[in-house]
Amino acid sequence: MAKAGGNIYIVTAPSGAGKTTLVAALLAAEPGVKLSVSYTTRAPREGEEGGVHYHFVDREAFLARLEGGEFLEYAEVYGQYYGTSSNWIRERLAEWDDILLEIDWQGAEQVRKAFPEAISIFILPPSIEELEARLRGRATDSHEVIERRLAVVRSEIDHVGSFEYVLVNDDIEVAKQDLISIIRAERLRAVKQLARHSALIATMKSPA
Ligand code: 5GP
Repeated sequence: MAKAGGNIYIVTAPSGAGKTTLVAALLAAEPGVKLSVSYTTRAPREGEEGGVHYHFVDREAFLARLEGGEFLEYAEVYGQYYGTSSNWIRERLAEWDDILLEIDWQGAEQVRKAFPEAISIFILPPSIEELEARLRGRATDSHEVIERRLAVVRSEIDHVGSFEYVLVNDDIEVAKQDLISIIRAERLRAVKQLARHSALIATMKSPA
């Protein structure tokens, strides 16, 4: 079957909203969707692998790539740099693959400028209290660090109106299905389907 032009999906969520779990479920259900591996200056967390979760680089190497115009978008988040490789995106688009970017709202804005057709999805936690409980539960962070993170979360949520889809991660199983549904529905858009199935449709149309 001929490929018919991939979509660019942007998934953005404040930390603690459950984005990683939802994206993992989506990639398992839809192996055709390729996840962009970002560059970052932050240190790997336990269990994270270079080239799989991120390309871990030092500040100097990141800034050299930035200077070299290697990033489609980049942002500073919690004092660390994060960026998406332009080359990788170009290569995937040339193959007509579906691409998924797990990036923050600042990156989403930059990608929308370059690719206005990108489909952006924002994941909300069920409530600010629940998010706070998740942040406190998962980290050994001090009260001040958690307060700072919550302030960042609120400023991230201020940008939810720029996204095309909004998921509330109240019930994880429902949220997984919602995310998968968005990807499937976007793939079924007529413009994509007509290109994908042009040969089939040609056999069904009235003779010219
Ligand atoms: P973490 O360090 O927890 O993996 O990610 C922190 C934040 O950085 C998350 O909101 C994540 O979506 C965002 N992020 C990860 N990679 C990129 C990227 O390449 N570009 C941008 N703009 N944000 C990113």
